[in-house]
Amino acid sequence: MKIGVIGGGQLGRMLALAGTPLGMDFAFLDPAADACAARLGEHLRADYDDQEHLRRLADQVDLVTFEFESVPAETVAFLSQFVPVYPSAEALRIARDRLFEKSMFRDLGIPTPAFADIQSQADLEAAVASIGLPAVLKTRTLGYDGKGQKVLRSAEDVAGTFAELGSVPCLLEGFVPFSGEVSLIAVRARDGQTRFYPLVHNTHESGILRLSVASQAHPLQALAEDYVARVLERLDYVGVMAFEFFEVDGGLKANEIAPRVHNSGHWTIEGAECSQFENHLRAVAGLPLGSTAKVGESAMLNFIGEVPAAEKVIAIDGCHLHDYGKAFKAGRKVGHATLRCVDLPTLRARIDEVETLIGN
Ligand code: AMP
Repeated sequence: MKIGVIGGGQLGRMLALAGTPLGMDFAFLDPAADACAARLGEHLRADYDDQEHLRRLADQVDLVTFEFESVPAETVAFLSQFVPVYPSAEALRIARDRLFEKSMFRDLGIPTPAFADIQSQADLEAAVASIGLPAVLKTRTLGYDGKGQKVLRSAEDVAGTFAELGSVPCLLEGFVPFSGEVSLIAVRARDGQTRFYPLVHNTHESGILRLSVASQAHPLQALAEDYVARVLERLDYVGVMAFEFFEVDGGLKANEIAPRVHNSGHWTIEGAECSQFENHLRAVAGLPLGSTAKVGESAMLNFIGEVPAAEKVIAIDGCHLHDYGKAFKAGRKVGHATLRCVDLPTLRARIDEVETLIGN
């Protein structure tokens, strides 16, 4: 079976690493000459709206999937004429726009921060008056890793901020005084069968994920699964979805969904029976799903900008290195380490060792 992937970054690369043992081949469509997945399959170097190359991709694969959600809707519609595409155009349409996703959460009875659609500076000022400060202004589309958003704490922060974010449609959200951030990675098969990984506790710095720790029997696991199941069913979703939540007042508030494999699920490569990457491929290919059970205590640390010396990383017991083969760039995710240990105290000690290598 040959899988077409829109995007050729590290998520595409890890999909190919998981699918190759299943006998799958891969083709990636990505405009970047240095797309890091390219070494693991065919690389069609073209823009995401290049119909000639999209057609060429569709003609050589059995199905198409995505490694990022900001794919133009027309691209999905075009590809869907020739080849099955998972997840669906509708799932991408909702997940790529913060207003659509928060409105869907509200319709499904899933708690969210207070939010308002912002089309102008006047809208922003009116929304600040009703939601209050602090608040977070986010572009509705194309934001990632803390880009395209600003925390507003005072009236001075509000002045001129719509223009500062590019005068594009935005969402204002009430600031959530969360006690923690968690994500639930779920996978849904073509026949509706659904499995959930254990909740993951995430730590961000400057809007970028730094550390994910897979939890043990988290008290909010069942609630998170209930919320995520509502979204999966509403979208008749196929594949892996990540759902990020704020933990607040002993409950959960929905932040966002990603209709794809997700950074907070990278620990599953060594830390779960079947990784998020393999389960995504199983789901889209119509194969039986694999077990989402943990196989030890597990965590993932991102390498941002550069990867520490490989021999130092893998010298740490239970530590697995994933170097994406990307060039150094400040703020860029260039690799990660997965830790798998027998118990939590050992895991904590190993996390500290990796953090020392990163220089934290
Ligand atoms: P996002 O791109 O929406 O996932 O935001 C990136 C990070 O900014 C989140 O992981 C939070 O740490 C923080 N953040 C986003 N929205 C809010 C909010 N409404 N209240 C508090 N912190 C937020």
